[in-house]
Amino acid sequence: MTTKETIDLFDKFVIANYGRLPRVIVKGEGCYLYDADGNKILDMFPGWAVSGIGHCHPKVVEALRKQAGELLHIDNTFYSEPQGKLAKLLSERAFGGKCFFCNSGAEANEAALKLARLHTSGEKYKFITAEGSFHGRTFATVAATAQPKYHEGFLPLLPGFVYVPFNDIAALESAFSDEVAAVLVEPIQGEGGINVATAEYLQAIRELCDKNGAVVIFDEVQTGMGRTGKWFGYQHFGVEPDIMTMAKALGGGVAIGAMMAKEEVAASLVPGKHASTFGGNALACAAGVAVIEAIEENKLLENATKLGEYTREKLEQLKQKHFVIDHIRGIGLMIGVQLRSSGVEIVDKCLENRLRINCTCESVLRFMPPMIVTESQIDQAIDILDGVLSDSA
Ligand SMILES: *Cc1c(COP(=O)(O)O)cnc(C)c1O
Repeated sequence: MTTKETIDLFDKFVIANYGRLPRVIVKGEGCYLYDADGNKILDMFPGWAVSGIGHCHPKVVEALRKQAGELLHIDNTFYSEPQGKLAKLLSERAFGGKCFFCNSGAEANEAALKLARLHTSGEKYKFITAEGSFHGRTFATVAATAQPKYHEGFLPLLPGFVYVPFNDIAALESAFSDEVAAVLVEPIQGEGGINVATAEYLQAIRELCDKNGAVVIFDEVQTGMGRTGKWFGYQHFGVEPDIMTMAKALGGGVAIGAMMAKEEVAASLVPGKHASTFGGNALACAAGVAVIEAIEENKLLENATKLGEYTREKLEQLKQKHFVIDHIRGIGLMIGVQLRSSGVEIVDKCLENRLRINCTCESVLRFMPPMIVTESQIDQAIDILDGVLSDSA
């Protein structure tokens, strides 16, 4: 099919709830995308952080082929090997909790919020979340998302959500009461512009929750699975959650979400309280296992740390040259470039030059390269961005 034929299908048959770029992607390989017109695009924002170890990682593809020949799906009436294996691998790389599987980030957060209510029971029904957060688009998670633009058209929201400024300990203290069931927070806000939590802030959340009998939930949907150079974002700060949610890069491109909870918290999720038909299916879990093995076999955590430093150095050099760059922030391969003006056009021009990056919050460029990225690919990306910034100056 030509690009036009595909776009015509969308115009006629697909709901237009996304602002799409007029390109049809037909192939992904490592750090590159290929479109139907034969363009090869360097992808520094692969699948909105889903393809964390690159597109179609051979290890993941091989695991999927093998699993597809044996068992695609079996409902949770039964046990299945991949689900058990993935839960063990995740548990051992985090805080030793137990897992519940679902199919997306929003679903993982839904599960976390429901579990927090079940576990704290009684009078507690409030959730504290941070301004600038993003937790998903379902009714509960959009209410958890403390950004008014996502609420428009959906008022009244599910009650009980209380919003506080991110990284503000005093505001957190004054928002607390014994009605609070949980604090839900991203260790590094992703959609909110790559805002890194302070260790003191996460520590304060931990202490206030402990004091008030509430649970700490970290949303690791974007920060998880090694992107920051550690398995999970929270591991940079020395503060452990009671519940953690994952999705995006967990399946290497296959839809999967997970919630992990400390054993005593997990015990509150008894049969009948929550479920997911597709959750933990054999195919998605086999992909998850392969992702973890690929990260370890190829030392991709180390690569994320090293290439993250390298990218930030290169961006700092660009900053010396281009006044429009205000500062650079982030950890590992989760990098935000704060501009002094809008970045929307810059992202479009980069794509014309066959580089994909992202812009969030109007003026933050997001670099989230696959963890397999090399120095020369980063150099290439920086060169393209340099050219675009020079042209638009
Ligand atoms: C993307 C994202 C979500 C939502 O994930 P979906 O799979 O789109 O439902 C939740 N939390 C964070 C931090 C995210 O980045």
